Amino acid sequence: MAEILFKRVAIIGIGLIGSSLARVLRRDSPQTCIVACARRAETLEAVRRLGIADETTDDPAEAVKGADLVVIATPLSAYAEIAAKIGPALAPGAIVTDVGSVKEAAIRDLSPAIPDGVHFVPGHPVAGTEHSGPESGFAEMFADRWCILTPPPGTDPAAVAKITALWQLAKMKVVEMPAEHHDRVLAVTSHLPHLIAYTIVGTATALGDDLRSEVIAYSAGGFRDFTRIAASDPVMWRDIFMKNREAVLDVLQRFSEDLTALQRAIRRGESETLEDWFTRTRAIRRSIIEAKQA
Ligand code: NAP
Repeated sequence: MAEILFKRVAIIGIGLIGSSLARVLRRDSPQTCIVACARRAETLEAVRRLGIADETTDDPAEAVKGADLVVIATPLSAYAEIAAKIGPALAPGAIVTDVGSVKEAAIRDLSPAIPDGVHFVPGHPVAGTEHSGPESGFAEMFADRWCILTPPPGTDPAAVAKITALWQLAKMKVVEMPAEHHDRVLAVTSHLPHLIAYTIVGTATALGDDLRSEVIAYSAGGFRDFTRIAASDPVMWRDIFMKNREAVLDVLQRFSEDLTALQRAIRRGESETLEDWFTRTRAIRRSIIEAKQA
């Protein structure tokens, strides 16, 4: 029988992502003892009802005691406080990882509290939905998606290999890159699209009553797809924009310039400019489908 990957896993923050990972461990590594940590009694009660953890606690320091893997899966704004609580309680040789959507800030907030002899392998499973909480999770959420690991130089390769194996268990494709590069890529592929969706839906909401009801009735014209993205968790997204400011502002500047160029083409009746642009973007959609990431 294959050797067990982790004996005792503490998941700090057991919402959409944390509970999905717990379900993967339940399915594929049933001998692993899972300890779930959240703040609210309702969340821990839901975890017990769902049967996705062996132990539950609201105390992060208690949760990590004796764990050979600690997964931080809370909103990014809680990282520094959690790090300070768990730092002294981490077992020698343990691996700490996280799932946060911004990696430079994650490293900045978690690293200082991680003692010598404990390995830190930052990660980001690029998978999810617009829902939150442990009821929304499902094991198959990660299947065929990418997980990006951003281990700082000098990270123990054996620890990186174990975190790679963890996400491979969840059927993810795993890649490594520097944290700063991750944050620039995700600013384009994830953070900017969310900001645009939040803007469009906010603009429509601010319209007069008559127009607003029509926006809802005829939403299939494109607006509906934006409303799904704009329904994403407000706290998580607040944190992402606060923690990835530079990269988001940079890509937003480029976006504004392109929007102005299209605005000018429409005003001047430059139909060819529009058609060329839309032809290029259609090709991008097709390559995403070919890469099975649609
Ligand atoms: P979620 O469903 O809202 O769950 C967050 C969990 O963190 C809840 O269990 C919450 O507990 C707990 N929590 C919050 N503050 C805490 C604290 N101070 N101490 C202990 N627990 C705390 O969030 P999520 O969507 O899983 O996102 C979690 C992380 O994954 C974020 O960092 C996000 O950037 C990253 N991520 C999200 C997605 C996505 O699509 N959602 C994708 C990839 C990565 P209570 O219920 O008790 O408040």
